[in-house]
Amino acid sequence: MKKHNFSAGPAILPAPVLKEASKAALNYQGIGLSLLELSHRGPEFTAIIEEANALIKEIIGLPEGYHVLWLTGGASTQFFMIPMNLLNEDETAAYVNTGVWADKAIKEAKAFGHVNVIASSKEQNFTFIPKGYKIPKDAKYLHLTSNNTIYGTQLHRFPKSPVPLVCDMSSDFLSRPFDPNPFGLIYAGAQKNLGPAGTTVVIVREDMLGTVRRHLPSMLDYRTFVKENSLYNTPPVFPIYVSMLTLRWIRKNGGLKGMQRRNKAKAAILYNEIDRNPLFKGTVAREDRSLMNICFVMEDKYAALEKEFLKETEANGMVGLKGHRSVGGFRASTYNALPKASVQALADLMQDFARRKG
Ligand SMILES: *Cc1c(COP(=O)(O)O)cnc(C)c1O
Repeated sequence: MKKHNFSAGPAILPAPVLKEASKAALNYQGIGLSLLELSHRGPEFTAIIEEANALIKEIIGLPEGYHVLWLTGGASTQFFMIPMNLLNEDETAAYVNTGVWADKAIKEAKAFGHVNVIASSKEQNFTFIPKGYKIPKDAKYLHLTSNNTIYGTQLHRFPKSPVPLVCDMSSDFLSRPFDPNPFGLIYAGAQKNLGPAGTTVVIVREDMLGTVRRHLPSMLDYRTFVKENSLYNTPPVFPIYVSMLTLRWIRKNGGLKGMQRRNKAKAAILYNEIDRNPLFKGTVAREDRSLMNICFVMEDKYAALEKEFLKETEANGMVGLKGHRSVGGFRASTYNALPKASVQALADLMQDFARRKG
């Protein structure tokens, strides 16, 4: 039986996507070859990447002028590739520090230009999203992290910005509708909410490119991927294919509105249980609670029961619930593909545990 997969990433994928992908791994569309052994320049893969690009544009509702790119090296490579491609040494980029990933992005950017950290919740262990900060008009871009995977906070509204937004959407990509117009660049590692590990989606607006003076190696220059439609070298064929299948699944299930409706319903079940259950409590500011990574701990007086509860989740077929070491407790990742029934099973177990141990 399929387990309840609450892993933060690589994470759960929709069951029909896994079924279709496993067929393709053996015999793609009945052609007598696995997709894993087909040329990335053949008609089969060309159709796949074109459909994937078209689906991203359609699902988000991207206006003209945006390019969809499929890169490698994870979101972590984007931490340096972004300032390398967008920021000159004498220019300044603004960053908001809302978690370990943002912190790493800040560290990398410092090698390429000036970095102005205009707001941070680092001193409070990233338990909230800073708001009301002033965005400098002369910044080249403002870098945000839309969802903080480790801490369980999420930007529920993007700030109005006089400069283009650059956003790490790795852990809430395509989980809700948003207005793409303020964004100069969006990036997301596939393995949280889109597909398998091995590819990173970058959506970049044409006017963001070509303004830096430094020499860019071809493989680290976004323009190479724009020009060659992500086929300058061999792209991660299978992760892109599986991502394309997930994109089809998202469209079929109501697009971003449909995803948001499901995600809100799932998060409500779990947050309601955390709030009403005397044994558990949340770890972050209520208004910033993530709909994707739900962090919670045991109330202090029940702290000794943490290991026991984790064991019970495992005995009940639930995996991936151990919290990140910097937060402790539990983290339920409730990405697009996680069924509501999995969240309900966890909430039921929490209730039952409280009845027995409370
Ligand atoms: C997981 C994660 C990353 C790192 O992704 P890699 O693909 O492993 O480099 C970066 N940012 C966020 C928000 C993440 O959740």
